[in-house]
Amino acid sequence: MLDPEEVRGELQRVAGNLAETAEPRTAGHRTAEVLATAPIDLAPLLGPVLDGDRGAIEREAFRLQLDPAALGQVLDLALQPFLWQAMAQLATLTDIDRWDRGYCPVCGAWPALAELVGPEKKRTLRCVRCAAGWTWAVLLCPYCGSDDHRRLGVLMEEGSPERVDVCDECHGYVKAVASYTPSSPAKLVAEDVATADLDLVAAEAGYKRPGDVDVTTAGIPRSRSDPRSD
Ligand SMILES: [Zn+2]
Ligand SMILES: [Zn+2]
Repeated sequence: MLDPEEVRGELQRVAGNLAETAEPRTAGHRTAEVLATAPIDLAPLLGPVLDGDRGAIEREAFRLQLDPAALGQVLDLALQPFLWQAMAQLATLTDIDRWDRGYCPVCGAWPALAELVGPEKKRTLRCVRCAAGWTWAVLLCPYCGSDDHRRLGVLMEEGSPERVDVCDECHGYVKAVASYTPSSPAKLVAEDVATADLDLVAAEAGYKRPGDVDVTTAGIPRSRSDPRSD
């Protein structure tokens, strides 16, 4: 699906733009400059980026003497148009909205946030990496599958258009924002950044994204997957 040569072209374009805008003499600037021009072999990096394997990216950054965070960011940005394309293709083949796991059906990432869509505020998990969206129950943790209302809570006051849904089972959280229609890929990225205050609120309260995940059961409601649970 991914052609390393095509991704390299996009990476050099993204890195070139960043090299122009990043503050000179910072690690990020140097990384962008190197990535914009150096003939880096991307093939071994694509898998780790898609799997969120930050250790592999850090090792490669160390080998190339680049800033690991900047390398990860540029790789994420460079992959985005290809993932958007993959998502659009998959959407023509299957009904992504009916996916019943907590992780993204297209790229495997955890949702960045939930959009409460339309007047009925239908909770829709959104992947910020490929922009996929799928409908999700309100009382269901996408990470550990807990559907025990006593273990699920909400941060932020009633009536606020934004909130954070939290799970005391796995200590995971999902931001939620109201949206009239599902957001476009670009708007979704902006929405994730614009709600960074919610990430802070969640982190300060001891929650993380994702929570402690068991990938074999992620998103499968406990009451359905474990007949012993009450
Ligand atoms: Zn995705
Ligand atoms: Zn949970």
